[in-house]
Amino acid sequence: MLRTFLLAAARSTTCRTLVERTPVTRGLVSRFVAGSTLESALPAVADITRDRLVTLDHLGEDVTDAAQAETTVTAYTRLLKELSDAGLADRAEVSMKLSAVGQFLPGDGEKIALENARRVCQAAEEAGTTVTLDMEDHTTVDSTLSILRELRADFDGVGAVLQAYLHRTEADCRDLRQAGSRVRLCKGAYDEPASVAYRSKADIDRAYVRCMRTLMEGDGYPMIATHDPRMVAIAGKLAETTGRTADSYEYQMLYGIRDAEQTRLAANGNRMRVYVPYGDQWYGYFMRRLAERPANLTFFLRSLVSR
Ligand code: FAD
Repeated sequence: MLRTFLLAAARSTTCRTLVERTPVTRGLVSRFVAGSTLESALPAVADITRDRLVTLDHLGEDVTDAAQAETTVTAYTRLLKELSDAGLADRAEVSMKLSAVGQFLPGDGEKIALENARRVCQAAEEAGTTVTLDMEDHTTVDSTLSILRELRADFDGVGAVLQAYLHRTEADCRDLRQAGSRVRLCKGAYDEPASVAYRSKADIDRAYVRCMRTLMEGDGYPMIATHDPRMVAIAGKLAETTGRTADSYEYQMLYGIRDAEQTRLAANGNRMRVYVPYGDQWYGYFMRRLAERPANLTFFLRSLVSR
């Protein structure tokens, strides 16, 4: 119920204005967002890459005009150049939402998103790194996977996210487990109807394990994106039983969440990548993090009351 409310609020402009104008929000946002500009986020990236890998997300989604989409492309090309200049491109890649480069624009939104994503992939190739396509709500999955296929024809390092809570995802994992394919498996962060997605934690966890097994048994490069200790432990066991070496898959977690576990996994010889978001369009991302964990919301509300 609370999760549904928060995820609906994540897409409401009225709530957005209210939350953005609340002075204490900034402090809480900084727990999950590395900085409001690239310059302010880069020290965190340099620090994390000492023992872990990074994927950087220039925050933004659901752009409503082509000019905004163009701004996103410029931000990513600049980011990729900075990573290359700072000598970080071998330890840091980028994550991108197709809705931030025009996927939802009326008419030929999908075509615009493909062309914009192609430009970002080109910049990543020049910088010596890769791009992973984030996955948004279930209505975008076919379009995102179709864009992925087009991009992979020219840039074979492009990866994508699959969400275990969707009923279709086991089949998508089977389709995307060939050699060279990079798949980030997460549970899923949107409020999806029961007609397309598992809704209970137990069902989602079971689906996550099935998808993980499919990817680990395949020939691709699985990216296990979860903070769930049980899923992390099962991933380790699956890697053993499928004979995977430590460099043939990786763990991923979000910036600001389970930091000690991130460093522990890295210290044990695992590839551990941190998803680092930055930018001033943090509202949707922040609300999804609140929705994932009631304790985050309690902390937020307590800060409001104790001002
Ligand atoms: P859960 O069962 O939700 O949580 C397990 C435990 O992790 C919790 O008990 C808690 O200890 C900790 N935890 C989880 N969330 C939080 C939090 N917000 N704050 C503090 N502690 C927390 N979703 C998408 O739909 N599309 C994407 O493209 C996408 N990309 C992602 C990329 C990465 C690298 C990661 C790690 C997640 C991504 N997600 C994405 C979000 C994901 O779908 C889940 O919503 C999120 O990871 C929470 O699920 P969980 O696997 O951590 O397990």
